[in-house]
Amino acid sequence: MGSRHPGWTADPRDLLRAGPGFTLEDVDRGGTPGFRGRKSDAERFGRDRGRLLSELQERLFAEGRTGGTRSVLCVVQGLDTAGKGGVTRHVMSMVDPQGVALHSFGPPSEEELRHDFLWRIRNALPRPGLIGVFDRSHYEDVLVVRVKHLVPDDEWESRYDQINHFEKELVDSGTVLLKFALMVSHDEQGIRLMERLDRPDKRWKFNPSDLETRAQWADYQAAYQAVFERTSTDWAPWYVIPSDHKWYSRVAITEIVTQTLVDMNPGWPEPDWNPFEMRDRLAELMSSRALTESLADTTRTVAKAVAADAKVQREEIEVSLDDVDSEDAAARADERAALAEVTAQRAAYVAEAIRTKQQKQRLVTAAKARETLR
Ligand code: ATP
Repeated sequence: MGSRHPGWTADPRDLLRAGPGFTLEDVDRGGTPGFRGRKSDAERFGRDRGRLLSELQERLFAEGRTGGTRSVLCVVQGLDTAGKGGVTRHVMSMVDPQGVALHSFGPPSEEELRHDFLWRIRNALPRPGLIGVFDRSHYEDVLVVRVKHLVPDDEWESRYDQINHFEKELVDSGTVLLKFALMVSHDEQGIRLMERLDRPDKRWKFNPSDLETRAQWADYQAAYQAVFERTSTDWAPWYVIPSDHKWYSRVAITEIVTQTLVDMNPGWPEPDWNPFEMRDRLAELMSSRALTESLADTTRTVAKAVAADAKVQREEIEVSLDDVDSEDAAARADERAALAEVTAQRAAYVAEAIRTKQQKQRLVTAAKARETLR
């Protein structure tokens, strides 16, 4: 086992998911569950996964540009100093900036308060093809709002059901929702807050109200526990991330987002035009010199696409290889089908590359003839 999750003993989604009977108190916030290795391994591993994540994100983006309706939304919650900003920046830095949309949610404005608590959330949802990231979210409306009694109890109490309903709708409309709760220990939070006071370059991150929030630690823990019990659903589970080691929260979230995209398996959209026809037309607008250079580059250009595809397909094959241990005949058949698909895809690329080169050779000859006539 484990081939699917190099670096991990198991899928971090299984390890970190808040399932039935989950108790926040039992989470070891200094733990690094499932990751084989230390900080330097995590950094190296994370960079490698970043390349795959970037490839998958580009596919999702392309899908969204050509009529696809799918998107991903990462909700990031956590107490002060848990590292929400750092994790968010880290994951976002691995993908093309045009493919991600970040929204931070602070105290609601007057206008936002005039609407239902989900109004500002609905306005910030990712468009098809995008990976949306929420730094704080609608969960503040059952966390800070509950702890600080900002609305009557029955009002926040009714919000858990509203949230579940809203998230179901969202997921049904094509958004994959990933909810991350970054959990630091009480001691680690104290150390991080003290560092903000000690370092002149970090003081801007400190707010005296952080101390009030810290004084209400137990109430916040209870509010988080209620969130996990009541809103970790099959369609939108919570992943509770031990966050005393920042490197761990980063590598865990990167892996969960990457694996989610692998499962979504976005492919390249088929154009509604024919590349051979377009190549004929483009060649009429090119010199024989440029065409000759392009011809010489053909194999290398196609090889790039094959290599990028292979990276994604390797993940998909590993998904099915994971099932081999189960000795389940259906799983083995799936694995064979996945391998056959990869072989067929490669053969198709090679066949197309051969035809492309033949076409380009003809086009170079035609261009030269055209140029001698001039
Ligand atoms: P952070 O603490 O996330 O680094 P920050 O210090 O820059 O952010 P803001 O982003 O302006 O501050 O606001 C964060 C604050 O807004 C948090 O204290 C949070 O509890 C509060 N907040 C967010 N949503 C709500 C809400 N719906 N109702 C009340 N307060 C909220």
